[in-house]
Amino acid sequence: MSLEISNLDVSIEGIGILRNVNLNIPGGQMAGLIGHNGAGKTTLIRAIMGLLPATRGSIIFKGQDLTRLPAHRRGNMAISYMPEDRRLIPELTVTENMLMPAWANRIADGEQRLKWVYSLMPEIADFGERKALQLSGGQQKLVALGRALIPGRELILLDEPFEGVAPVLAQRLSSVIADLRGEGLTVLIAESDDAHSAGLVDTNWRIERGSVSQGRRDRSESSAVADD
Ligand code: ATP
Repeated sequence: MSLEISNLDVSIEGIGILRNVNLNIPGGQMAGLIGHNGAGKTTLIRAIMGLLPATRGSIIFKGQDLTRLPAHRRGNMAISYMPEDRRLIPELTVTENMLMPAWANRIADGEQRLKWVYSLMPEIADFGERKALQLSGGQQKLVALGRALIPGRELILLDEPFEGVAPVLAQRLSSVIADLRGEGLTVLIAESDDAHSAGLVDTNWRIERGSVSQGRRDRSESSAVADD
């Protein structure tokens, strides 16, 4: 279930945003992608999802070349992402929001997946009948994470999951994300700094002006400061 990105270039409207990106995450591991605003984190995540085309290089997951695979086929490969801005449908209930990716990706075991997500995050089941707009921002983030876990059975990409979340809910999010490792998922967490992800990840990658380099630190060196 490893993700291997090699020599990846991505342009938006003719402007080179990502340059020669090399990054890999061994199956079942968690990696951080740390970079300032505008560094290219969302662009990389969108490229992995197939929402932006690669102009060069390759994206391989589980040995399969995704580089030219359309986005909807990547969803079928059990890959998904949690966007920075949640994107819940406000008028729908939490349960309806949760099941949306199962319907969209024709996931046969959607109801089973929902039960699994509810077992990881029972609080979502508790507000299942509420409309998404009735939840706080932090609660919506939890729902957005849960929803991403329906198609994201193997690889999940989290775009700034802790951004704007109150400390108590950030702690809760953190513990759910830690549980994902135990469930065998491969996880990428994009963050502007490693305040939340430091204790979770196996490896940190730094992204700066569209270039990625590997950080020095891993989970086993828990007291060390991240990379430079
Ligand atoms: P943030 O946390 O602010 O989202 P980020 O690290 O995710 O930052 P990206 O959103 O990937 O950064 O943006 C990387 C660069 O690409 C930025 O310079 C941004 O201005 C540029 N960019 C992103 N989307 C577009 C677009 N649609 N058109 C033009 N430039 C874009």
